[in-house]
Amino acid sequence: MEKIDALVVGAGVVGVTAALALQQRGLKVFILDQQAPGRGCSFGNAGLIVPTGFPLSAQYRVFDLPAQFLKASSPATLDWVSLPTLLPWAIQYAKSSRGDRVKHITSLLHQFGHGAIRSYELLLRSDLPPITRRGYLVVHLSTSEAEAAIRFNAIRSSLGAAVRMLSNENLAEMEPAIGGLRARATFIEQAAHVTNPSAFVVRLAEVFLKRGGVFRCERVESLELKGNRAVVVRGAREKNYSTGAVVLATGAHVNRLLAGNSHKIPLIAERGYHLELEVEPGFLSRPLSLPSLGVVLTPSERGARIAGLSHFGSPGLKPQPHLLLAALDRLRKMLPTLKPRPGSQVWSGERPATPDSVPIVEQVPNHHRLFVATGHGHGGLTLGAVTAQIVADLVTGKGSPYASHLSSQRFSIGRKSLRGCAFESTTREK
Ligand SMILES: Cc1cc2nc3c(=O)[nH]c(=O)nc-3n(C[C@H](O)[C@H](O)[C@H](O)COP(=O)(O)OP(=O)(O)OC[C@H]3O[C@@H](n4cnc5c(N)ncnc54)[C@H](O)[C@@H]3O)c2cc1C
Repeated sequence: MEKIDALVVGAGVVGVTAALALQQRGLKVFILDQQAPGRGCSFGNAGLIVPTGFPLSAQYRVFDLPAQFLKASSPATLDWVSLPTLLPWAIQYAKSSRGDRVKHITSLLHQFGHGAIRSYELLLRSDLPPITRRGYLVVHLSTSEAEAAIRFNAIRSSLGAAVRMLSNENLAEMEPAIGGLRARATFIEQAAHVTNPSAFVVRLAEVFLKRGGVFRCERVESLELKGNRAVVVRGAREKNYSTGAVVLATGAHVNRLLAGNSHKIPLIAERGYHLELEVEPGFLSRPLSLPSLGVVLTPSERGARIAGLSHFGSPGLKPQPHLLLAALDRLRKMLPTLKPRPGSQVWSGERPATPDSVPIVEQVPNHHRLFVATGHGHGGLTLGAVTAQIVADLVTGKGSPYASHLSSQRFSIGRKSLRGCAFESTTREK
């Protein structure tokens, strides 16, 4: 039997970056995935790497959500069939929406986002695939949105992000193709993007192979925990893998493999959608989001794509492609030239969503060799390389100052115990 130091299940952006970081620490690493790398949620995201992040509750306030779900033109939709299974998550979402928690989470997300590109550089060095650094625009379609943006931008600036408000004229100069929107915008200067998120993950997987890693296309059926120090991974092809450590990076579906363990992670699926548009390459020079429509227009290899929306439900919820087509129709009222690229289909992927928008990166309680890295919600591409280093710290026993903030135990402990932990003291020292 081959010697494996660490086995990563899941070859999305989170799994592949974790595998690269473990490799960098000198471990012999395997990745297993039921499909090729970058085919899950990481396939079709908007390609943004953003240094500043807010929890979802800043966009979808808890008391507004029921009305949002009932409104036909809302960017947030609920899979009503999933409702009973979502309630415990919803309670945690409400708890995480309290002012002091939002403040703490925002500071944490900014701290992670700030190191995003640097972490990719350190992980990949000369193998880093192209990342375009031209910033990112958030377009405010109404006066009230622009006023709210001024408040958000003050928080961004206080946390070290370079942001500025643009007039409609500035916006039209930067992106002539969308000048017709007649809106103000926030420009987030340090943001970057990739034009093909799936190809980006495939390229990272190729680097992993080049550096001596092994990838096997195989579905993992179950895990067998032997005491608290050994895990046997059972593949669909009747093959068993015995390894020093297992990292579950299976996105929204992580609880299925934890089912045999008493551990359960508060995670739901937040489906998002994308569609390629019929525009010339170079139509946009940087991504831009339209929060009131819940979508991002983003440069793609073929021109541009529209991506986004929040369709909440249990993992495996049925896709509703018409949601994106309806959002495109709304956008076409302002930009009538936008239309779907002939022959292109609406794609959909399940974001792994935690109640507080902070990922879960942890050693499974009572098991020394089983780890989880999931829950990246809207920020898996942004935070992939940052969390990979934390995964590597945990697996190699180095420990991480972020451990208590990223552990799923944060949903079961009181705020008092969080106050004394390392992150708070690190931030105070700065
Ligand atoms: C429309 C949209 C736009 C987005 N835009 C952005 C953006 O601009 N920037 C950003 O940072 N993030 C964005 N995101 C979020 C980002 O795409 C996700 O956070 C990220 O892809 C999650 O990565 P992951 O590796 O955890 O999951 P996945 O990419 O889903 O990978 C999980 C992998 O696990 C495998 N797997 C699952 N179960 C098993 C099993 N039993 N056995 C073997 N393999 C298994 C799956 O096949 C899959 O390949 C967006 C998401 C969407 C949907």
